[in-house]
Amino acid sequence: MHSEGFDVTMETPECILCGNTAQKFLFEKSSSPSETFRLVKCTVCGLRFISPRPTPEASKRRYQSTYFTQRTDRGYNDYFSEKTMREITRVLELNLRDLRFFEFERSIAKPRRYLDIGCAAGYSVYYMQNRGWDAWGIDIASHCISFGKEKYQLNLIEGDYLETEFDAPFDCITLWATIEHLHRPDLVLRKIHRDLSEGGLLMISTCRAGGFMHLFGNKWRYYNFPEHLYFFTYRQLVHLLEKTSFAVHAHAFYGSGIGKPKSVVRTLADKIAKSFSLGDMMIIAAKKKLLA
Ligand SMILES: [Zn+2]
Repeated sequence: MHSEGFDVTMETPECILCGNTAQKFLFEKSSSPSETFRLVKCTVCGLRFISPRPTPEASKRRYQSTYFTQRTDRGYNDYFSEKTMREITRVLELNLRDLRFFEFERSIAKPRRYLDIGCAAGYSVYYMQNRGWDAWGIDIASHCISFGKEKYQLNLIEGDYLETEFDAPFDCITLWATIEHLHRPDLVLRKIHRDLSEGGLLMISTCRAGGFMHLFGNKWRYYNFPEHLYFFTYRQLVHLLEKTSFAVHAHAFYGSGIGKPKSVVRTLADKIAKSFSLGDMMIIAAKKKLLA
């Protein structure tokens, strides 16, 4: 079908922050024995991203099968277990508290509508539904959507957010560990701006380029190529939010990746990361900029 050896499953993006096409090569890393991906940095604004990368269609195929069930150091190995659900919910509550979500929740009238983009099996949708929200989730991974619908009867949509229209605006939209997977974070943020009610809240969590990232070089825990396509610094993500007409009103950094999970070393390193803003995860809450 594809003659002349041209690989239509790959694309070469330009910088989504500044539109520049020149890139500096940083390093390459293999994802499986047969695939290697390159990390580059925009020569103007410094944004780090994978290039070339699988097209959106090719990426979608990768999420359909083993990403949530087989991965050990990338993706998840037991995503559908009760244990994973409890852990995801625990982290979710910490993030919500740090972003002052509960104050926001009290300030808005019912019925409150929530949407989680990149919801996987919908654990945050389940959480918000239990808090009385009209909660929705959307994801391209069909087996995750089926699981959440069957096990928890959640309002989950299988599809691409950019191609999905909704009947009514949402009071809260989240991208939990999702923006780094998106091919066009800029277009998704513009659409969120349209889908969010006036005064509505956007919350994002993503890995943070900066802080402890520099200790690990190409071994950094979030360099999962090619699922993670973008690695934002806090400033770069704020810049993207401002460009898409959002104003940041809360943020926090946490996590270190130092030592084994749950070890004394990890606990101590995570405390230091949080106290000194060295964390390699970041969470941001933003609202629409008011029109002048
Ligand atoms: Zn750039």
